[in-house]
Amino acid sequence: MAATLWEPALDEAARQWQSVARRLAIESFAPRAAAIDAEQRYPAENVALLAESGIDRLFLPKPYGGGGSLTALCAVIEAIAEGCASTSGIVATLQLGANPVVLAGSEEQKAAFLSDGRGGLKSIAFALSEREAGSDPAAMTTTAAREGAGWRLRGEKCWIGGGSVAETYVVFAQTRPGSGHRGVAAFLVPADLPGVAAPEREDKMGMRGTVNARLLFDTLVEDSALLAGPGEAFRLALEALKIGRVSVAAQSCGIAMAAYRAAARHAASRRTFGRPIIDHQGIGFRLADVSARLSAGRMLTYAAAAAYDAGADITVPGAQAKLFCSEMAHEAVDVGVQVFGGAGFVKPNLVERLYRDQRATEIYEGTSEIQRLVIARAIKAEQAAAQNPVAGTAVEVAAK
Ligand SMILES: Cc1cc2nc3c(=O)[nH]c(=O)nc-3n(C[C@H](O)[C@H](O)[C@H](O)COP(=O)(O)OP(=O)(O)OC[C@H]3O[C@@H](n4cnc5c(N)ncnc54)[C@H](O)[C@@H]3O)c2cc1C
Repeated sequence: MAATLWEPALDEAARQWQSVARRLAIESFAPRAAAIDAEQRYPAENVALLAESGIDRLFLPKPYGGGGSLTALCAVIEAIAEGCASTSGIVATLQLGANPVVLAGSEEQKAAFLSDGRGGLKSIAFALSEREAGSDPAAMTTTAAREGAGWRLRGEKCWIGGGSVAETYVVFAQTRPGSGHRGVAAFLVPADLPGVAAPEREDKMGMRGTVNARLLFDTLVEDSALLAGPGEAFRLALEALKIGRVSVAAQSCGIAMAAYRAAARHAASRRTFGRPIIDHQGIGFRLADVSARLSAGRMLTYAAAAAYDAGADITVPGAQAKLFCSEMAHEAVDVGVQVFGGAGFVKPNLVERLYRDQRATEIYEGTSEIQRLVIARAIKAEQAAAQNPVAGTAVEVAAK
């Protein structure tokens, strides 16, 4: 029997991580996913399993218990998302918070903020967005001003993943109001510092096992809290997001896979007009489209991860993977609900939950429009850089 989904050829290490994640997803995460969603509960027991298995820190540098590739991280996030999208979101959020420290932290900062000293991960949340500055974070109004030998941070961050449960926040703040991205600096701020508060958690339509919180800052941090200064921090945020976008692409593939598998099984067994509904072309063809697009999405995701692991810049492949996979997953969950008919619209049903969980993948870590913007800018730069961008191609001849 020919497989209907493309499978990545993983190296041994990534394959082992994938099988650990699949086992956890099947035995522990999937069975709890519906209750976690219904109760909108942060699953501490799942977080403990992520720590026990080493998944939470697999992508950190070796001295901090990691050493795994981005390919391995994608395989893990995809496998977990298939069982519980929220738990995959927790893995991706922990990674997004750690990335700036890994990329720009001094050895002292890495030792202090990445490890709990017992081989475990200290959790960090990535605090960039504000109510009026999401797609355009350079418009942020949180400020950092010199006060004595330290910095006074003042402002509010919104929708922050891991807010209220993380031990540390990477806070991006404006040091020279009016100077846009050039004035932004990044600070490592302990969550229990006086003047740091998480007054409320968001009530979300999906991904309800992850926490997102509004954060308030009016606090004084020491100079040693500076992770990246003006002129560096904004680029650091974008570098961290480049990696994060590939994780979101993998998460989208996992969500799509769950919807696809559930819908295909249902379509093969549910009968109307004397035959399985998959034999009605309107249903069979939609599933065929999902299997083709899901395979293509996985190819983009694993190609972007492999490019990163090989040391390439993934600005464009990461944006393409996130854009394509999140929109592909949108189609997959929509087809899932349609294939289940009335049952797909009623709780508790897997595709009903996936339909809500999926939606966030088109918003966080840069909306689909922002991914298109990134890609469009690269297309324009490519055209501007070359004297004759079509030189040596068939278009040069055909367009004459
Ligand atoms: C579940 C969840 C988790 C999140 N986690 C985090 C986190 O951990 N840390 C963090 O810092 N932030 C986080 N965010 C915030 C998230 O990154 C922002 O919501 C996102 O970047 C969009 O910003 P916005 O909501 O302000 O929308 P806006 O920027 O107001 O955009 C509104 C709409 O306009 C479109 N738009 C904006 N500019 C353009 C343009 N130039 N061209 C075309 N269309 C445009 C957008 O695509 C969108 O459709 C999270 C959000 C959610 C929902």
